[in-house]
Amino acid sequence: MAYINDNYQKLPGSYLFSEIARRVAAFQSKNPSVKIIRLGIGDVTQPLPKVCIDAMKHAVDEMASAKTFRGYGPEQGYDFLRDKIAEYNYKRRGLNVEADEIFISDGSKCDCGNIQEIFGLNNKIAIADPVYPVYLDTNVMAGRTGDLKTDGHFEDVVYLPCTSDNDFSPSIPAEHVDLIYLCSPNNPTGTTLSKDALKKWVDYAKANDSIIFYDSAYAAYITEDGVPKSIYEIDGARDCAIEFRSFSKTAGFTGTRCGYVVIPRELTGVNKNGERVPLKNLWLRRQTTKFNGTAYIVQRGAEAIYSDEGQAQVKELISYYMDNAKIIREGLSEVGLQVYGGVNAPYIWLKTPNEMKSWDFFDKLLNEVNIVGTPGAGFGPCGEGYFRLTSFGNRENTVEAMKRIKSNLNI
Ligand SMILES: *Cc1c(COP(=O)(O)O)cnc(C)c1O
Repeated sequence: MAYINDNYQKLPGSYLFSEIARRVAAFQSKNPSVKIIRLGIGDVTQPLPKVCIDAMKHAVDEMASAKTFRGYGPEQGYDFLRDKIAEYNYKRRGLNVEADEIFISDGSKCDCGNIQEIFGLNNKIAIADPVYPVYLDTNVMAGRTGDLKTDGHFEDVVYLPCTSDNDFSPSIPAEHVDLIYLCSPNNPTGTTLSKDALKKWVDYAKANDSIIFYDSAYAAYITEDGVPKSIYEIDGARDCAIEFRSFSKTAGFTGTRCGYVVIPRELTGVNKNGERVPLKNLWLRRQTTKFNGTAYIVQRGAEAIYSDEGQAQVKELISYYMDNAKIIREGLSEVGLQVYGGVNAPYIWLKTPNEMKSWDFFDKLLNEVNIVGTPGAGFGPCGEGYFRLTSFGNRENTVEAMKRIKSNLNI
């Protein structure tokens, strides 16, 4: 007999996107001629920057000759990419991160999900509510959360509510936690953590000997000055924080796959004998055993954004989405909806009108203006009463969606 990992059965199931698909399909079959606009997507839609395409074509040609062919690469990534990341994203911004503290991967979802493996099951974790589901679900699978309670929370997790009451900036917990997941700019709320807020978390982590997992997948979408792009902008963060970044939203790599994690050399955890062990070494051991590196061709494509031309093309790509975000923000505000986010992130988080439930607002938007978004409640109990729209659609649909909301949404 093969016993399963029972922790998997504690997961409530990916109800959110399948339920959205079910409701949309039911509506479309009753209204076959209606053109539905999808603003629920969390995936980019515009093509890769030309610099990336050119670099990858060149890398493919290298594979055609024995002299330049590449087989297995270093599991932690090629130096050409690690060096460029260290220079462009950290050193040029006055931050101290070395190339050998950067581990290239096939994306941030995997890194955010796998990182918990190098930590013991006895750690107490803190997670925002609402949240990107990967942080929580991977801890459930590992057996670190206890069982699901009727209020939608797991019994052993410390939840950090993020609502308009605290400007979506989670408060420091009253109790001790060991591992803390923070995401800024945030998916799903589209809001960011200020330097002051981050400083409080870094101070807490240092005082409590905790580790912060800082997901900054959307750092490139920050448009306002003074909003931290990296947690290492905060003094002391090298002693307590691991940072996750990705080329997915920055350069349209969601289908191409490349991300990285930064683990400073001074970061340690404690073993059963009370001795300090560098986390960087554990992660390298994990990756060399379980991961075979990101494709050479893809790493060359990623490297290409680190040039003047590459940076300009990435900027243009992000501006396209952020102009959409502005159109959505302004459109929703004009009809009197309360909106958050969308200034430093491609997500707009809106308060549903008249205290409507998230799913009721989903149906209303679908029925009255034929627009699909994502119910906030799907990201955690504190997302109830909120709704997420994304700026990843094309311009024409985004403009048309706001036109429909202004003329036909009945609020
Ligand atoms: C999209 C996203 C990522 C990046 O995922 P990849 O695996 O790199 O494509 C990470 N964190 C959040 C919150 C995201 O929304």
